[in-house]
Amino acid sequence: MKKIVSSLILFSSAIVLGACGITTPDESEKSSQATSQTTEATTDAASGASKQEEYTDPSELKDKYDVVIVGAGGAGMSAAIQAKEDGANPVILEKLPVAGGNTTKSSGGMNASETKFQKEDDIEDSNDTFYKDTLEGGQNTNDKKLLRYFVDHSADAIDWLDNMGITLNNISYSGGASVKRIHRPEDGSAVGGYLVEGLLRNVHENDIPIFVNTDVTKINEEDGQVNGVEIDMDGNKQTIDADAVAVTTGGFGANEQMIEENRPDLKGYVSTNSEGSTGDGIKMIEKLGGQTVDMDQIQVHPTVIQKDGTLISETVRGEGAILVNQEGKRFFNEMETRDKVSDAITNLPEEEAYLIFDDALANRAKQVDFYKEQGVVESGDTIEDLAQEIDVPKKQLKETLANWNEAVDNKEDSDFERETAMDYDLTSGPFYAIKIAPGIHHTMGGVKINTNTEVLDKDNQAIPGLYAAGELTGGLHGNNRIGGNAVADIVIFGRQAGTQATKFAQGNN
Ligand SMILES: Cc1cc2nc3c(=O)[nH]c(=O)nc-3n(C[C@H](O)[C@H](O)[C@H](O)COP(=O)(O)OP(=O)(O)OC[C@H]3O[C@@H](n4cnc5c(N)ncnc54)[C@H](O)[C@@H]3O)c2cc1C
Repeated sequence: MKKIVSSLILFSSAIVLGACGITTPDESEKSSQATSQTTEATTDAASGASKQEEYTDPSELKDKYDVVIVGAGGAGMSAAIQAKEDGANPVILEKLPVAGGNTTKSSGGMNASETKFQKEDDIEDSNDTFYKDTLEGGQNTNDKKLLRYFVDHSADAIDWLDNMGITLNNISYSGGASVKRIHRPEDGSAVGGYLVEGLLRNVHENDIPIFVNTDVTKINEEDGQVNGVEIDMDGNKQTIDADAVAVTTGGFGANEQMIEENRPDLKGYVSTNSEGSTGDGIKMIEKLGGQTVDMDQIQVHPTVIQKDGTLISETVRGEGAILVNQEGKRFFNEMETRDKVSDAITNLPEEEAYLIFDDALANRAKQVDFYKEQGVVESGDTIEDLAQEIDVPKKQLKETLANWNEAVDNKEDSDFERETAMDYDLTSGPFYAIKIAPGIHHTMGGVKINTNTEVLDKDNQAIPGLYAAGELTGGLHGNNRIGGNAVADIVIFGRQAGTQATKFAQGNN
């Protein structure tokens, strides 16, 4: 493969995102220890890792492929690698100058049940429990067939990644999970950069062509069967024919217009998303008659910096931080699901809150170093000093922390019935505060697929030759995604899209 674009994959993503005012690649959905290495990874991702990766020379683009994959995020690269394993010769077309999309930004991890790594750690879990937790999190609105397929194939997805040198064997809790189920890289570092780098390495090892700066503008069909795409490659428009097309273009969390159309109440919210998350795939598939579901189900994350959409990792709460209002009082169980914590913040008169934590926590959750560099962390040597900095009543903040530390000692939060992330008290100064409010984080709705990732039309019939996987699809998460389930979604259904598109292309569907 001739290669041209020498890019620092992780760093390039950070530059691209930074250029659009979107910063740290971080969302942590774990809630216990083993975060000491996370900053190293986060810092690497933000400051430029040493790895150089390359993309395919535009001159090598052919006018026909058996399987065309649209979008080079986690779902797209998983689909491509699986398609190649199954005997196809796929191509990946990516509109941005680098691969990765929102996947690069994910750092919490990937949920999976009955995995070999859980067994090694004596963690008792089952696919049924994973199913139940996800259904509870989604308040029973999830597509149950997709969910069943998802949980039953999660362990296999972990093995598949491991066999490719992408090992997620550091397991912890995530919000809404009843057991330790979120899988992370061994050193506790961010999952996204590691996953994207590993998938891209395998894309190259498998000689799968991957073209960047290649915007797919239309999906073509003839007599109802999908047969290719229109592209704009650096200004050159072209038709690429295909036997099957797998669309993996991600969600629409960065498309203000689509957000407003589907959820007028979220107009003006900041977004944590990559600039590529503009809902292109959903729009192209709708033009072909594809059905959409749950488009108004947009996940808002409770702890986002409002000026630039920086996500404050769930790890900070997971390691023991509390949330207080402007009166210096706790107001909710910080470890509740994201929708509920977000609502609790939005219902405050000031519609924002402070994450409060101590120096010991800052040492455990190393992401805090990055937040300090960003200038979003207020500090005080004592609780009173901190209260002064953030203009909350000193006496009240002191009392709130004393009550909280007593709850941690007794392992009982009689105020808000928090049950997890109570391993550490908040007693070692300096003390810190980060002002946060909810921001748009994940679009749970999208195109309707079946468990074969076939895109369904308005009569629930599969559109021949058209497959979709990842954040552009809807149904799996219902009305509330559990942290860690999106990365699992893109690998599990990305692979399925690769397999099914290959079968279709080979005439074996
Ligand atoms: C800050 C942050 C942290 C997160 N952390 C976690 C986590 O820890 N765990 C978890 O489970 N989930 C997490 N998520 C959610 C998860 O990362 C995403 O849902 C998932 O990675 C989406 O993967 P994808 O492959 O579907 O889309 P993406 O990774 O977004 O990839 C889609 C790709 O398609 C490209 N594309 C779009 N339109 C076109 C077009 N017209 N032509 C060609 N290419 C196109 C995009 O540029 C992009 O590269 C996080 C999300 C964010 C924003």
